[in-house]
Amino acid sequence: MADTQSVISDVKLFIERLKKELPEVFSTPSGPAEGSGPAPENRVLYNGDLYQARMYLTPDQEEGVAFDGEIFHVYLQSKTADPSALVTQWLRDKAGETLRQKTQQWAEKMGVEYNNITIKDQRTLWASCSGKKNINYSYRIIKMPLAVQDYLIVHELSHLVHMNHGQEYWQLVAQYCPDYNHHRKWLNENKGSIFADVELTYREEEENRPSTQEPAQEAQPAEEPATPAKEQTPAQEAPQANESPTQGQAAKEEQN
Ligand SMILES: [Zn+2]
Repeated sequence: MADTQSVISDVKLFIERLKKELPEVFSTPSGPAEGSGPAPENRVLYNGDLYQARMYLTPDQEEGVAFDGEIFHVYLQSKTADPSALVTQWLRDKAGETLRQKTQQWAEKMGVEYNNITIKDQRTLWASCSGKKNINYSYRIIKMPLAVQDYLIVHELSHLVHMNHGQEYWQLVAQYCPDYNHHRKWLNENKGSIFADVELTYREEEENRPSTQEPAQEAQPAEEPATPAKEQTPAQEAPQANESPTQGQAAKEEQN
């Protein structure tokens, strides 16, 4: 992932240079963020990759989303349907399924037990673990690369042993996730795109496209999770996985 970061930095620098050389191309004041073409791209961030989304008007078919591993196919019953909501629900369902499964696997490996897992839509918090051994996850975790998802799970499960961020706590995290510092950095740098809502726009010209699978057209580089193509959520409270103690709370919540 370190390479991804440097690639993204390079792309940003390249675009900054283009802006100077070709100002007319970039003259729209609120143009899309770096990396996208002139029209806003319909993309979905999932497991750390940006995937293309295609929308189809299919009034006779149930609304829904199908992901074929390369493209999100979104079936709409009317032009006023909300493709963003459909894909968001898909991500939430997927998050519930995936995070429950992974947490179970990690808990067995670490020899810890938890009670319930709840999937929430937290905008400023990745996850939390309560004194009653209940774990909450933001469904947005599903947008992160798999290794970062694993880190957050290990982070919360480690709180079942140490309800703080003390030295022993981080030693336990490191035992199962030696690269945790790298993942914390990633989270800090990419929180904008992770917390950004899915934003898809149905376009007329897509209406008559066949709903069968087509080859992905010029796929984005496989790993480009960080492009904040959408507006970022307003500055949240800093998400440092700070080392502060739990302040006497039963629940310890943190960003990463
Ligand atoms: Zn924590």
